[in-house]
Order: sequence, then C-alpha cells, then structure tokens
Amino acid sequence: MVEPTENCLHLEGLKVAIGSEYRCPVCEESMDLAGLSRWVRDAERSRDEAYSMVEGDGFGEIARDELQREVYRRRRVMYELENVPRVVTARPEMILVVHDAVKASYGCRIFYKEPRPAGGLEQVSVAAVQETILELRSDPDPIVRLIAEKVEEFHAFRSKLAEGGAAAPERRVFYSNEL
Ligand SMILES: [Zn+2]
Repeated sequence: MVEPTENCLHLEGLKVAIGSEYRCPVCEESMDLAGLSRWVRDAERSRDEAYSMVEGDGFGEIARDELQREVYRRRRVMYELENVPRVVTARPEMILVVHDAVKASYGCRIFYKEPRPAGGLEQVSVAAVQETILELRSDPDPIVRLIAEKVEEFHAFRSKLAEGGAAAPERRVFYSNEL
C-alpha cells in the first residue's frame, strides 16, 4: 500500500478514476473537478504571493519563474483532463483482478489494445463488499460496469470456494473473449 505522500505535487499528472474523479498515481489522492481547479488556484496563489514580494535579486526571479511554470503545468493537466471524453467506447483487451487480503479489496488493471484510448480507466480498486460491487454495476461509465461485472464473478467464485473450505485463487485474468 502506498503511503499518502504529504504535499505531493502530483508530478506524474492525474489519471481518470471512477466516479468522475481524478487520481494521482503517486500519492493516490483523488479529487473531483472542483478539487482540480482548487489545485490550480493554489499554484496561482503561490505565484501571486511571490510576485507581490519586491525582491530584485536573481534568486527571487528564479523562484517566481518556477512558480509560474507550476501554474502552467497544473493548468495543462486540468485542460487535458477536462477535454478527455469521459465515456470511452474502446473495449479492454484484458482485465487483471488481484485480491488484496489486507485491504479487503480487488485491485483491477485494465489493458487496452494499442493505441490506448486517451482517458481510459487503467486502474481501479474495488472493495470486496457485495453492495459496493453492485453499486458499480450501475455506474454511468461502461468500463466501470464491465469491471464490476468481472469483479462480481471472481468474488462469487472465491466466496464459494472459501465456504467449502478450499483455498481461493488470489488473481484472475479476464481475456477479451470473456469481456
Ligand atoms: Zn500526488
């Protein structure tokens, strides 16, 4: 499990996650669109504060340039995410579902045929709870519904084995012919 990184700058950008959220692959923080614009405004505020300090030395100038670049970088991340179509029609090529006993959840990785669709959901964690899985089965995103369906299938299979006292497999790969 990734420890939440404090003051993570989300340097690798943010990825599309379920529930109209965007997630940082480094610190795993997720935010909605409002959170995203707050994140941009934070950078703008830091820059404005730096500009309001009248310091003529070269060091202050470098710092201000850096803060300006951070504003541009965050705006670019937001712009790209806003312009990504939320509903991706491409079917995944493969879905890997791995049970995490510690977190009591299923980690799913979604693989697409190349070229990968922009904004396609690539990774998601689903709590190993029947209600949660069922909830995701009516998600507006067809990829999320598909993942939920596969997780439900694997979860039911594992539960059945566990009831019978048998060891359940921890991972399952769903290939395109099963999707
Ligand atoms: Zn981060």
